[in-house]
Amino acid sequence: MNNLLESIELLNGVKIPKIGFGTFKVENGEETVSSVKEALKFGYRHIDTARIYDNEESVGLGIRESGIDRKDIFLVTKVWNSDLGYEKTKEAFYKSLERLKTDYLDLYLIHWPKEKEKNLGAWKAMEELYEEGKIRAIGVSNFKIHHLKELIKEAEIMPMINQVELHPQFPQEELREFCIKNNIAIEAWGPLMQGKIFEIDLMKELAKKYGKTISQIALRWHYQLGIITSPKSIKAERIIENANIFDFEISKEDMIRIEDLKGDRIGPDPDKINF
Ligand code: NDP
Repeated sequence: MNNLLESIELLNGVKIPKIGFGTFKVENGEETVSSVKEALKFGYRHIDTARIYDNEESVGLGIRESGIDRKDIFLVTKVWNSDLGYEKTKEAFYKSLERLKTDYLDLYLIHWPKEKEKNLGAWKAMEELYEEGKIRAIGVSNFKIHHLKELIKEAEIMPMINQVELHPQFPQEELREFCIKNNIAIEAWGPLMQGKIFEIDLMKELAKKYGKTISQIALRWHYQLGIITSPKSIKAERIIENANIFDFEISKEDMIRIEDLKGDRIGPDPDKINF
């Protein structure tokens, strides 16, 4: 059994593999094609991209060249800020499909919250595309509790996922609790703090203690909390390393020590940034 098929059931019954493969800052072209193929070859079945990463064409090509059936892959992309709003979002969705050369998405996300009207317009478009069977699940990204509340108030379909910055230094307990109560699955972006996690002393100590790498400790921590992750690497050995987290368990005490690290975001605050 490929452990990378282990999934979480979203509120509509669709299953999303708990460990995906991230493609942020992976260059459109050979770098993306080969890393996507490498991930799929090793057993990843969940690929995360976004319009703004500018690599959808190569993600699609990597998938096709892998020889794996499209229906066996959970493919995620996101609508960017400049395309929020009912009509623009529909247009952006079809353009993403064209670039990916696919006729449906497994998950489509609003990438960043913007003004209420824009978010709601985009959501309406996504609800319709979902009803038409063109998207298997819909969700949001970088939404704080107040953004979620605003959306839920008007939405006909609840967001099924919220993909947010989340890692040992920034565990987002309050948001996690809100999402659990509302049946919204949480996905962490930057689970390795975009490389900064390797400098944390506690992570070094735990890697030694468990005989694992720092990356494996971090990803296992998310996994034990029931949080979906899509670590990114362009290096074959790291792609494999990041998926090998199923043969050990972090003790309760160490889970708490990691969660107690406390620190700040590494990325922008969705309330402060206006892309
Ligand atoms: P990650 O936390 O996954 O870190 C990626 C960095 O860690 C890269 O520099 C990579 O380098 C390095 N790395 C990966 N594995 C290892 C390893 N085993 N040992 C040492 N270094 C390693 O950051 P991301 O920002 O990429 O987040 C993951 C994914 O989440 C993204 O790729 C994207 O799909 C999504 N995302 C979503 C956002 C949103 O707003 N919704 C924002 C940001 C990301 P190298 O490639 O050289 O191995």
